[in-house]
Amino acid sequence: MNSKITIEEIIQKQREYFYTGVTKPVSFRIRQLKILKELIKENEKAISGALFADFKKCEFESFATEIGMVLLDITHTIKHLKKWAKPKRIRPSLANFPSSDSIYFDPYGICLIISPWNYPFQLLVDPLIGAISGGNTIILKPSELTPNTSKLMNEIISGNFKEEYISVVEGGVEETGLLLKQKLDKIFFTGSVAVGRIVMQAAANNLIPVTLELGGKSPCIVDETAKLKLAAKRIVWGKFLNAGQTCIAPDYIYIHKNVQNEFIEHIKQVLKNLYGDDPKLSKDFPRIINERNFNRLSEMINPDKVIIGGETNKDELYIAPTVLNNVSRKDKVMEDEIFGPILPLLTFKNINDVISEINQHPKPLAMYIFSHNKMQVKQLIENTSSGGFCVNETLSHFVNLNLPFGGVGNSGIGNYHGKYSFKCFTHEKSVLRKATWFDMPLRYPPYKRKLGMLKKVFGILQKL
Ligand code: NAD
Repeated sequence: MNSKITIEEIIQKQREYFYTGVTKPVSFRIRQLKILKELIKENEKAISGALFADFKKCEFESFATEIGMVLLDITHTIKHLKKWAKPKRIRPSLANFPSSDSIYFDPYGICLIISPWNYPFQLLVDPLIGAISGGNTIILKPSELTPNTSKLMNEIISGNFKEEYISVVEGGVEETGLLLKQKLDKIFFTGSVAVGRIVMQAAANNLIPVTLELGGKSPCIVDETAKLKLAAKRIVWGKFLNAGQTCIAPDYIYIHKNVQNEFIEHIKQVLKNLYGDDPKLSKDFPRIINERNFNRLSEMINPDKVIIGGETNKDELYIAPTVLNNVSRKDKVMEDEIFGPILPLLTFKNINDVISEINQHPKPLAMYIFSHNKMQVKQLIENTSSGGFCVNETLSHFVNLNLPFGGVGNSGIGNYHGKYSFKCFTHEKSVLRKATWFDMPLRYPPYKRKLGMLKKVFGILQKL
């Protein structure tokens, strides 16, 4: 964003630009998506560099979880957008005979996208793809906690898109507060539950539709029938990727009492295989984002319960992959979302107890079960509520662009990815076109002697 222009001026310029209709043709949207795709490819090294500078994220993870994911989504959107954006013919109701009905996908107008720091590139650009595909103008608010990525994104966007089309506003609470006071047409927020509440309250003042992608404690259950070695590998990968700073990371494990010790041995071995004897020396293990989060996480580590890791180093913002054993719901680590490399193990004997405990807590963003007991898996899927669910896997539902990604209850409102991103950034407008060659007299007053006929018509409609 040009530093001289105020937020109010951006809104004004974007509104005027939107009403010129320039952003609406699908050909325009596809052209912008192609430009964005090329920019990402050209700047791949710079993006990886910024992510490394922000929290020592390695190049492999930067590509796998940020750049590569975005390229997949943008390519998929370019391929399918024409079909998605086409008005959809709908079967008309006989009650409206003769009519033809359809759904139009209207852009909202000015969309604000607020993103967090943990996947600072992907969680900014993925919703941007949806907003462009919907035909909107966009204001991006990257996280101030990843200043290198934020600055780079500002340079890339402002150097290649007009600010009346896509604008970047850098900053923190103050700037976001100001943005939230504006008459926007859609707000897409990814971040914590606490700030999600602030965003929703602000949106309520102007009745702005919101999508909230929030967090929470995502449980992972490992039962007696699981392939324990593979479960340990997939759980360690999902938990310690990005040093545990992943919204859908398994937050804690329910391990069946009968396999607890065997599972712990596998976890120990897998951690060694993945990050070596001293994970501090591993180039593949990132750091904690800042001192505030380092302190918050350090307080969660109860030394009496540590069975793996536990080492911390404030100067380097390093916390070792840490496993806590025999944890109960009363422990500090179970109070809030962990969002760091600490994995608590709780035990269970009966799956019904697990289900009832999970249902007493806020609905999680993701749930995982490792099991070969089909009935037990079915029971868990059908008797709990969560944003997403994986069986014998962690995180990977995020990758399928044909699956909607989002939370429920405390973990969020709405969803996106692929076609769902297009839907997220458009309003489904019902359009009815009525023919003029016939006009049913029944609906018009005077109603005298018409009720019997009306009931007959409703009877017919109910049978259709
Ligand atoms: P955060 O809520 O602190 O910040 C998110 C954004 O909100 C940032 O851009 C920040 O500048 C802004 N913000 C912060 N305080 C604000 C305030 N008082 N008023 C207005 N704006 C404010 O979240 P975070 O620490 O960046 O990210 C971590 C959280 O995000 C975790 O809870 C995690 O689970 C969640 N998350 C969710 C998803 C998802 O897809 N559901 C993805 C990533 C992260």
